[in-house]
Amino acid sequence: TEQMLQKSEKLALVGQMAAGIAHEIRNPLTSIKGFIQLFRSNTEEKTYYDIVLSELDRINHILGEFLVLAKPTAVDYKEVDLPLILDDVVTLINTQSILANIEIQTVYADQLPSILGEANQLKQVFINVLKNSIEAMPHGGIIQIKAEKKDDSLISIYFIDQGVGIPEERIPSLAEPFYTTKEKGTGLGLMTCYKIIEGHRGNLLISSKVNVGTTIEIRLPVATEKPIAI
Ligand code: ADP
Ligand code: MG
Repeated sequence: TEQMLQKSEKLALVGQMAAGIAHEIRNPLTSIKGFIQLFRSNTEEKTYYDIVLSELDRINHILGEFLVLAKPTAVDYKEVDLPLILDDVVTLINTQSILANIEIQTVYADQLPSILGEANQLKQVFINVLKNSIEAMPHGGIIQIKAEKKDDSLISIYFIDQGVGIPEERIPSLAEPFYTTKEKGTGLGLMTCYKIIEGHRGNLLISSKVNVGTTIEIRLPVATEKPIAI
């Protein structure tokens, strides 16, 4: 049946992920081991120490993303102020965008209806999406963030970049774990985003044109007001 199929699909996914995680962890660990062995005799200790630290950070980053994926999504959703969260995220990512010669512009519609959500999870989604946009724009440019009402029941947040874009046939692969085109990528960022947005009963849509840019649209349901008891 449909349910059984979903379950076996999920199990296959877990297995695929466990294998991938093990693989991702083994490479930095091998590197750490090698450099630690050189510590004793070498004068370039500082360089090796930095490498050890950055490899440890990488392990931490991979495990962090994995833990989000493995965690159950049942969270207590509260009313969140989307423009406030988006502004926070832009501030957080500011150093990175300035270094990349990127300007982030924000346009929020007046009287944006409120939504229910978990602020920290939503921040993580927005950071992942913005990081991908920054990483896709090696020559700098503009990233636009727009938040507006889609219809009576939905809000849309658009992240519009001027990056390298994604070939159309590659778009279905993006939700898969470990799909990355980056040397130091984990391929877990977008999957984490999908999972969190799904938990919020929303949708994440990708449209892209090679050498023009990518737009990520995140749709979230408007908080429905509880009927007032008379
Ligand atoms: P990672 O960033 O670690 O590679 P993600 O899951 O965040 O993993 O993204 C997966 C892949 O999707 C990226 O490696 C990249 O090829 C592609 N991608 C995601 N966002 C964008 C974007 N805004 N522009 C171009 N490519 C993108
Ligand atoms: Mg990413």
